[in-house]
Amino acid sequence: MTYLKRTIDNYKDLVLQLYPSCHIVKGYTRSAIYDTEKHQITLITNNVANALYNICGLTNKEIFSSGLSNEKEILHSIISKLLKKEIIFFSTQKEFHFLPTTQLDNNKSIESLILDFTSLFEYDIEQTLRKFSSNSPSVIQIRFFYRIQLNELNYILETIHRHLDVKAIEIILPNEVLNDTKLANIIDENHNITHVILWGGSTYENSRYKQCVIERFTQSLDILNSCGFVAKELFICNHKFYHDALRFNTCLYKKCAIDSKGFLRNCPYMPHSYGHVDNLSEKELLNILESNKYQGIGFVKKDNIKDCCICEFRYACFDCRAFTQDNNLYSKPLKCNYNPYTGVWIEIK
Ligand code: SF4
Ligand code: SF4
Repeated sequence: MTYLKRTIDNYKDLVLQLYPSCHIVKGYTRSAIYDTEKHQITLITNNVANALYNICGLTNKEIFSSGLSNEKEILHSIISKLLKKEIIFFSTQKEFHFLPTTQLDNNKSIESLILDFTSLFEYDIEQTLRKFSSNSPSVIQIRFFYRIQLNELNYILETIHRHLDVKAIEIILPNEVLNDTKLANIIDENHNITHVILWGGSTYENSRYKQCVIERFTQSLDILNSCGFVAKELFICNHKFYHDALRFNTCLYKKCAIDSKGFLRNCPYMPHSYGHVDNLSEKELLNILESNKYQGIGFVKKDNIKDCCICEFRYACFDCRAFTQDNNLYSKPLKCNYNPYTGVWIEIK
């Protein structure tokens, strides 16, 4: 395909196309163009979105051959702006060439596991991880809500390595547990620790040691207030996220959690529990994880959710199903302050 970037008048018989990495997402009050390669979202009016649907695939001559002169002027201005932003282009070929969608794999195994701890004795960590061994998640997050001892942390890490084949480990724990030397030792010994979050520090710090990002927060661990928060700054505009959001839940798909009391859930804050992990055999655990009820939550996508389904940000927005308006599985996330019917963010003071 020939990509040409010149002024509109040069194009004559060439065909107007959207770049394959760009997607128009129509909303109730306005629309957005997601550029999944440049990671940018451009807001446009619904009229411009409709015009784009109508003119993409037409030649320059066809676009401007009919219509009133003021309409032609408006179209000319829209096309010039979008050409400049490299959202559309004129091509010698008429066929559209879309980027391939990421394939939906039929494998039902989970990909990420969250383990919460308020003490080491609420559930049997050795037995729990053994039960996941035939269905090993590739990402694991371990969160400590109490001052865990260093030997206990090492024990959990060893147990993870003994039973699971994990590519990335994220650890959240009190700042006082690890000084810089102890932290470096742990990262040296565990090459798959990719992120450590230390809460309750004296200043905010963000650093990196080898493969690991280290963040120190002054706040106490208040996951309940921070998890599920929706903000413009948190939107993700890339090829994978866009296609994932079209097909499944961007938080809960293939996710599993053991809450601090040892109960199995889709995430630690989802109201429904599938039982205490110590009371489930490996087979029962696998059956639950593969059940329609468990997996179904991972398939609640933005298009199924009231209000989100008409929002122009729906395929860039991380979706929380634990904290929703009316506590309904199909309601808008509770911690979203955007009104897609008016296009206005409500400021929180
Ligand atoms: S569903 Fe909500 S609370 Fe649960 S992990 Fe996702 S964002 Fe956090
Ligand atoms: S309305 Fe829904 S899709 Fe839109 S920003 Fe809020 S949570 Fe995200």
